[in-house]
Amino acid sequence: MLTLIKGGRVVDPGNLDGVMDLLVSDGKIIEIRKKGEKKGSSPADGDHAFLNGEKLPIDQVFDATGKIVMPGLMDMHVHLREPGYEYKETIETGCRAAAHGGFASICAMPDTNPVNDNRQVAEFILKKAAALDMVKVYPFAALSRGLNGDILNEYGELKQAGVIALTDNRPIRNSQFMRRALEYAKGFGLLVISHCEDPDLSAGGVMNEGAIATQLGLSGIPNAAECVGVMRDIALCELTDSRLHIAHVSTKESVRAIQAAKGRGVKITAATAPQYYTLSDNAVIGYNTHTKMNPPLRSRDDVQAIAQGLADGTIDVIASDHAPHSSIEKEVEFDLAADGIVGLETSVPLALRLVEQGTLSLAGLVAKMATNPARILGLESGIRIGAPADITVIDLEKKYTVNSNNFQSLGRNTPFENRQMQGRAVLTMVGGKVVYKHLN
Ligand SMILES: [Zn+2]
Repeated sequence: MLTLIKGGRVVDPGNLDGVMDLLVSDGKIIEIRKKGEKKGSSPADGDHAFLNGEKLPIDQVFDATGKIVMPGLMDMHVHLREPGYEYKETIETGCRAAAHGGFASICAMPDTNPVNDNRQVAEFILKKAAALDMVKVYPFAALSRGLNGDILNEYGELKQAGVIALTDNRPIRNSQFMRRALEYAKGFGLLVISHCEDPDLSAGGVMNEGAIATQLGLSGIPNAAECVGVMRDIALCELTDSRLHIAHVSTKESVRAIQAAKGRGVKITAATAPQYYTLSDNAVIGYNTHTKMNPPLRSRDDVQAIAQGLADGTIDVIASDHAPHSSIEKEVEFDLAADGIVGLETSVPLALRLVEQGTLSLAGLVAKMATNPARILGLESGIRIGAPADITVIDLEKKYTVNSNNFQSLGRNTPFENRQMQGRAVLTMVGGKVVYKHLN
C-alpha cells in the first residue's frame, strides 16, 4: 500500500525543513521529494508513483498543504494505569488519547498494580499494546522492588523483557540505594529516570510554599525539596559516571543546578511538563483539585525559568506526566485529592504556545517532543528514507476550546478545561498506519 503525504512543511531538526511530499510504503518512508523537484520517480504525479521505473497507484493521499509534518511525537512520561487501576485509564484508552494528541510513541510508568518490577508485568503491557496495534508503548520498570526504595530489581531480566528505562517515579530516600541502582543500571545500559524530591522536606505539603499557600491556608512544598533531590542525584551521577534523566523539573534552582552540571560534563538530561511553563501557583486559588500535582505548580519566576531552560537547552524534553485519575480521587477536599493531571491531549497546543512566544522554534519543539526523547532512550526518530513512518501532522491554525468530555482518556482531570487553544495534531501515523486522522 502506497500513502502520499503531500505539500506539508516537513520539520525534522538538523535534517529537513521545507515543503515536501513524503511517500510511505510497507510501514516505511520510501521517498522524500522537495517541492518543485521533478525526477522520474516523483510521487507528486496525482495518483501514481514511479518507483524503480514502475508506475504504481497511490492508495491513500493526505493533503498536508499549510500544515507541519514532523517525526512522530514521543511522550516519555505517561501513566497508563493498567494493570490494576483500569477505572482511571487502560492501555487502550491511554493509547487512544496519545494518538489523538499527536503522539506516535509513549513510555509507560511502572506504578501499576502489580508494579512493573518483573518481566511478567512488562510482557503483559507489551502484549496488550501489540494487540491494540495503535501507538508504540515502551515500558519503564521500577528501580526497586514494589517501589519500596530498598531492594534492586533484576534489571537484566527486565531489559530482556523489553524494558528501556528504570524509574520509581517517586523520591528515592536512600542515597546508597540510588547509587547502587545507577551502577547496576549502567551495567545493562539502561537509563535511570529520577523523580527528584526530598520527601522529608515536602512531607505534608499540598501546593507550592509561598504567599498563595499562606493565603489559602494550605501547607507548602518548598522549591528546595526538588532542588535538594536534583543536586543529590547530580552528585551520584558524577560519582558513578552513569547517565541520569531528571523528570518534570519545576523550579528555577533545579534549572540552574542542571545547567551547571551539564556545563561540567555530567551526563544528565532533563524534562519538564507543559503545566510547569504554563501555570503558576496562582491557578490554585479557588482550590480546584485539577491544579494539584507533584511537583506542585510553582511561582511566576519558576514558570519563566522553566521556559528559559527549554529555550537555552538546559531542559531537553517536554513530556506530559499524563496522570489520569477518576472523579473519586479529585472531587474531594484539596488536601485529600490525588496528585496529577492528564496531558496527552493538551500537550501539543500548550507546546505551540512556546513557539508563538518565540521561546522555541518549530524545530525546537520537534526536538523537545520527538527527537530528544528518542535520542535519550536510544530509539529511532526522524523523517528519513528507510525509517519507520512514524509521522505527526499538525495544523497550527486550528482553534478550539478544551472540553474534557471529548477526551479519549478516561481521565477528566485537566486544569485547562475551557481554555482556548490554537494548533493541534490532525494526523498521527505509526509505522505507516494512520492511528488518528482529522484531515481530508
Ligand atoms: Zn509521573
